[in-house]
Amino acid sequence: MSDKPRVLIVDDVEVNSKILAACLKGKYEMTIARDGQACLDIAITSPQPDLILLDIEMPGMNGYEVCKQLKNNSLTMNIPVIFVTANDREADEEKGLLLGAVDYITKPLRPLIVAARVNTHITLKQQHDQLLALATHDQLTGLYNRHYLFHGGGKKIAYAVRHQLPLSLAMMDVDYFKVINDQHGHPTGDAVLQAIAQLLGSQCREEDIVARFGGEEFIILFEHSDLTHANKKAEKLRNMIEQLEPEGLIVTMSFGVVQLEQKDSNLDDMIARADSALYCAKETGRNQVIGV
Ligand code: GH3
Ligand code: MG
Ligand code: MG
Ligand code: MG
Repeated sequence: MSDKPRVLIVDDVEVNSKILAACLKGKYEMTIARDGQACLDIAITSPQPDLILLDIEMPGMNGYEVCKQLKNNSLTMNIPVIFVTANDREADEEKGLLLGAVDYITKPLRPLIVAARVNTHITLKQQHDQLLALATHDQLTGLYNRHYLFHGGGKKIAYAVRHQLPLSLAMMDVDYFKVINDQHGHPTGDAVLQAIAQLLGSQCREEDIVARFGGEEFIILFEHSDLTHANKKAEKLRNMIEQLEPEGLIVTMSFGVVQLEQKDSNLDDMIARADSALYCAKETGRNQVIGV
């Protein structure tokens, strides 16, 4: 797949889409939608567009309504929308911008100006995405960081409670990690953490949150998983880490696993219970899973 930025053009009149596409030719991966619903469907499909050029006058759902729905959905709210329209009244433009569009281009189109404006907003979007990735991920391992864990985990708890779905959490800690640093040096310790993180990330489902909680501690939130399932999964991970031998070293981890219960009012409560189970795993021999 091309790594060019992706632009979605939405217009009910084919020739309009073609003119717009010609303005942007060569620089972008372009998709064309003929109505509002198609736009909304494409916008949530991965890989998502980096920018949407949206007509206003369309049969069925008009562009304002489409923009409103895009901005109300957390999956699409960060995709910049530029209205491209023949409606050149000040009130129309104001309405479009107030709905959250980043720009408003009126017809007749001036191709160089269209290309320049699209370029500006694609650049801003890319910068936004990079900052978001930095803010939500741990630099050493590339996993989610603690900040994101609390943000995303809070949402997962709310969702699980609302829909009465099971949710489980595993907290894990490398056994005797200090010894690895002391005997083989900090860079080797870092490489061990990276290898463990890579394994954890690759073994979990996309909807699970796999995070570096701190130092040599990790947390995984297993969506739609009860304690039995999470224990099994943790045991599988424990075994795989034992076999992994990162940097040629035998490394093991201890796990504390809990399922969301009524008494947990937030993620902190689940973490506190998992921490106790982990403590117990450490105290009673390490390299084991304790689920409570
Ligand atoms: P236990 O089995 O009880 O967990 O023993 P431990 O040695 O793993 O635990 P301890 O808390 O004593 O040591 C954790 C070590 O992890 C100490 C700290 O220097 C090291 N550490 C924390 N963050 C990093 C990191 O980013 N890189 C490296 N290389 N080491 C780190
Ligand atoms: Mg139209
Ligand atoms: Mg620790
Ligand atoms: Mg440790």
